Amino acid sequence: MTTIDLHIHSIYSDGLLSPAELCALAVRRHVSVVALCDHDTLAGTRPMAEAAAAQTAQGHPLDVLPALELSSGAEGRIHILGYGATPGNRILSETLTRGRTERRDRYAEMLYRLKKMGIEIPPDQLPEDRPDSMPISRAHIARALIGMGLVNTMEQAFDKYLGEGKPAYVPLCHLSAEEAVRLLVSAGAVPVLAHPMRIGLTTFTLEALVASLRAAGLAGIEVFHPSASRSDIPFLLRMARDSGLLVTGGSDYHGDHDTRAQIGRLPSGWTNWQDDLQALKVAIENRTPFQQAVGND
Ligand code: AMP
Ligand code: MN
Ligand code: MN
Ligand code: MN
Repeated sequence: MTTIDLHIHSIYSDGLLSPAELCALAVRRHVSVVALCDHDTLAGTRPMAEAAAAQTAQGHPLDVLPALELSSGAEGRIHILGYGATPGNRILSETLTRGRTERRDRYAEMLYRLKKMGIEIPPDQLPEDRPDSMPISRAHIARALIGMGLVNTMEQAFDKYLGEGKPAYVPLCHLSAEEAVRLLVSAGAVPVLAHPMRIGLTTFTLEALVASLRAAGLAGIEVFHPSASRSDIPFLLRMARDSGLLVTGGSDYHGDHDTRAQIGRLPSGWTNWQDDLQALKVAIENRTPFQQAVGND
């Protein structure tokens, strides 16, 4: 049984659990290695490491890889995971701060658009906007719309209001995918293309994207993600292995409400996950940031 999950979210972005709750859940589900990949922030890195150390001290060994998930590309739809990224890198920190400003403006615009449609979200339906966390995202707004009884599911919230082309949709666009990859490389992180089957590209265009990102420094592909069907896996594996890219896998867990993304539950077939995990760890160890300095992100 696969017991690793290299892609989960916490309350520092749009997940529902704190790092301590995530680590306790990982232990209960017999997951022994996790990577916290919060969107566009590293604020959860230290709490996650502390929570994992506390579990380990109680006799439940839990290994945590520091990471994050950068939104990039024209509609913010291309997500790049950065393994080994740590707070304190100046270039990365500056970009994350810029990204938070863009997200705050976008959040205000989304609320304005909803208001024009007669939908006013009561403040108690939204989490507190903490300075170092990712600002309120479409996922938070979708949950608020469910809480208000306007829709029944996250899918409905995106289909009706928040998805691309829908009335409250505002794109994220501050970073191209190539820039995101280069940024992670320069910050000493290992860039991996997240959930390739969720980007909405044909296989031909996806191959072209991977080739272009590979030239920018892409190091891996997240092959084992719930969005990959049984027949997608061999295609993605071949694409990764043919280009000498690392293979990773993660559930994209945000909370128990999404039954398709449960912690530690990955598509079947990742027989040599131990080798792939080891290769990822070696890649992280071999990286050195071009610029490592101050910054408190
Ligand atoms: P944002 O980063 O603000 O654009 O919000 C995107 C987030 O919303 C993703 O990271 C997911 O957590 C969530 N999300 C996007 N599309 C859907 C969907 N169709 N159903 C449920 N959650 C979604
Ligand atoms: Mn999310
Ligand atoms: Mn993503
Ligand atoms: Mn994610």
